[in-house]
Amino acid sequence: MPAGGAGAGAAAAAAAGDTGQARVAATGPGRPRPYDRVITRAAKTYRGMFIVHVQCDHLYFEIPEKELGRDMLLVGRYDRAAAQEPDLPPGQFGEYGGDEFGERTLIWQRSGDRIILRSPTFSITADTTLSVYRAVEAANYAPIVAIFNVEAYGRDSAAVIDVTRLYTTQVPEFAAIRGRIDERRSYIESAAAFPDNVEIQAAQTGTPTPVGGGRGGAPAPIPQAPGETPAISVLAHWSLVRLPDHPMMPRRFDERVGFFSIQQVDFGLEQRAARRQYITRYRLECSDQRVGNLCVPKKQIVYYVDPGTPEQWKPWIRKAITDWQVAFEAAGFKDAIVAEDPPANDSTWSPEDIRHTMIRWLPSTTENAVGPHVSDPRTGEILNGSVRIFQNVLNLQRDWYFTQAAQLDPRARSFPMPDSLMGRLLEFVVAHEIGHTLGLRHDQLGSSTYPADSVRSATWVHKMGHSPSIMDYSRFNYVAQPEDNIALEDIVPRIGPYDKYAIMWGYTPIPDAKTPDEERPTLDRWAMQQDTVPWYRFSENNDFGDFGTLTEAVGDADPVWATTYGFKNIARVAGYIAGATTKQGEDNSDMREIYDRTVGQWATEATHVVTVIAGGEVQYKSGSQPGPVYTPLSRGRQVAAMKFLADNVFKTPSYLIRPELSRRIEAEGVINRIVAAQSRVLASVLNDNRMNRLIEEEAMAKDRATVYPLANMLDDLQHGIWTELSSGRVSIDAYRRSLQMVYLTQVDNKLNPPDESSRPAGPPRNPFGRRNIPLSEDAKSELRGELVSLRQQIRQAIPKAADRETRFHLEAADHRIGDILEPKK
Ligand SMILES: [Zn+2]
Repeated sequence: MPAGGAGAGAAAAAAAGDTGQARVAATGPGRPRPYDRVITRAAKTYRGMFIVHVQCDHLYFEIPEKELGRDMLLVGRYDRAAAQEPDLPPGQFGEYGGDEFGERTLIWQRSGDRIILRSPTFSITADTTLSVYRAVEAANYAPIVAIFNVEAYGRDSAAVIDVTRLYTTQVPEFAAIRGRIDERRSYIESAAAFPDNVEIQAAQTGTPTPVGGGRGGAPAPIPQAPGETPAISVLAHWSLVRLPDHPMMPRRFDERVGFFSIQQVDFGLEQRAARRQYITRYRLECSDQRVGNLCVPKKQIVYYVDPGTPEQWKPWIRKAITDWQVAFEAAGFKDAIVAEDPPANDSTWSPEDIRHTMIRWLPSTTENAVGPHVSDPRTGEILNGSVRIFQNVLNLQRDWYFTQAAQLDPRARSFPMPDSLMGRLLEFVVAHEIGHTLGLRHDQLGSSTYPADSVRSATWVHKMGHSPSIMDYSRFNYVAQPEDNIALEDIVPRIGPYDKYAIMWGYTPIPDAKTPDEERPTLDRWAMQQDTVPWYRFSENNDFGDFGTLTEAVGDADPVWATTYGFKNIARVAGYIAGATTKQGEDNSDMREIYDRTVGQWATEATHVVTVIAGGEVQYKSGSQPGPVYTPLSRGRQVAAMKFLADNVFKTPSYLIRPELSRRIEAEGVINRIVAAQSRVLASVLNDNRMNRLIEEEAMAKDRATVYPLANMLDDLQHGIWTELSSGRVSIDAYRRSLQMVYLTQVDNKLNPPDESSRPAGPPRNPFGRRNIPLSEDAKSELRGELVSLRQQIRQAIPKAADRETRFHLEAADHRIGDILEPKK
């Protein structure tokens, strides 16, 4: 939308000055006027589900009689928002264009010369034939969003109402800004109407309600002046969609298979009211036509390729779409999902039309892609699954591919990488996002369900991939060694056995079942295939501290094994950085970025090993499957993981110290770079939940020799960090001195946590909504004991110090421990 038009619109809206009073005035009795007095020739008119008129900054809906009383869905998204303000709290604004800010069901009713807009909820329900239905209906009295006078009647008694204020004033059900909306600085930008939906775009300006803190617990943004929060503006987009007249039969959700879901509470069941969850999925039904043993769908799932996509990427995006056909074949459908270009000469075709699902290409520096979907809140039917690709996701792919695969693929060792390679990486990202829009969640468990050493087998990865699911955050095969001779095509994830299985489970028709409950025995039988095929199992996050459900992991059935080979590759990759990033006439920013990413990859792989400590396996089971769901790992594996950390992580990784890089990009910072990475790993070892679990596992164990008690773990950790103390002649280098001080700081923070009141408020950083139980007093006593014994060892080591730096460091550590054990009030 041109910015010039925007300013003019705002001025006119302010001059009209009547929108603020509309809400109050509209509640009085209406007196319709002749149609052409209300909708004049100046109006711009769009015909679709409603007839929509834009006239003098006012927006009118002309609602045909037949659209009254029908369920509609309102979806609000940001078209443009203040994306450049990273300090703004998430979910409030400052989100990227395309992010959703609201979704609710609406229904339009007429009462005399008034139209009543209600927002019914489908979150509670019961079978309409049961007597409890009346009670549910009574409890379900839908709240009224707004009441409008009928301004005029159009053809066939269609009611014309002025709906401007829904989009430009403080109507919480529509508001794109949580806070006070200033109608003088808000206005309708554009409108469009289609057979099943109406699309409205408006600028909203408002003052956000201050919330506790910034993103991720960061300090809240400081207002410009006390008591004055500056206003923000957003360009928002609302789709109003009529929901299908014949609701799809929903499919019951099952935690064993990774689908997104909608939730309802059903009171029509015997005894207690039950929470009902249904998966979200496209409506896919068999026609009478068959090809072999597959059926041709009545209606294909069509994904359009954005015409704005750079030409060289279009074939890869088409491929990402049709990649999913094999999964739908597993569900019994032929060509269920297809790629198309929007019709070239059809002025009625619009990507805003909810009937069209498109892979949008957004020229943005954001390094991401998203796959949201719009679904019918009554049944979970996916109505639109448009994917948004931000152009700079290509940069992220480049960096990942370099740090994970440059040792295997010579094409990665010089920038820019060839289009044929970047296209393949793009295909991978887009296929993943499409998976979300088909209803699939992240199968983070995936990569850990394969035998670890399989990912170094060329025949295995050719057939199975290095993860069974493209919905896993498995990225590229960083474990494979150059001598494994794995085909380059096979180091990039693709649709795998789990994806086919999940689509089979969610989409295969069960024709004999007439209700969702009648489908359950079949669904349960399919889910039980997981007992014999481990890679059909699903989990998005594992309460054992992510063991098994690691993101960015390959071969994580055995993280110690995988990281051993991963580190060998990082040492190789580090040697390629200078060559790849040095370009005539260019500065060294690429070198810095790739060096940082490589060290980051090292820390990520190191952290995978940590999850073995107090880790365990999870297989979700229904009542028909025997055995535990949660199984802790053996003591032997946990001890080996700690030994790996001491030998390979806390011992300075010299291959990451690269003077040929650091001398190009900075005057100082190498020690900090290495120690910061180690510090990330150390913090994960000392994670509160991990320490608590070790205490609990010891308490539950019949035989203490089978578990890894917290005391042993902390002893081993302390020895790994302070190994030098036991030598005859103690010499500690600068890297290790720094790491040892980090250790004291982290233990200090556990024993003497910073005063809560001095911390910035705001939601705790807990991305998976997992329970955060504070560190137990028992664990604190153990940590305290560790420091007491450490101080003794340090005092014994001081006379053995080989150099002045070591001696001063040890004396400082001794002093520091005193402060931690007896903090000054
Ligand atoms: Zn994803």
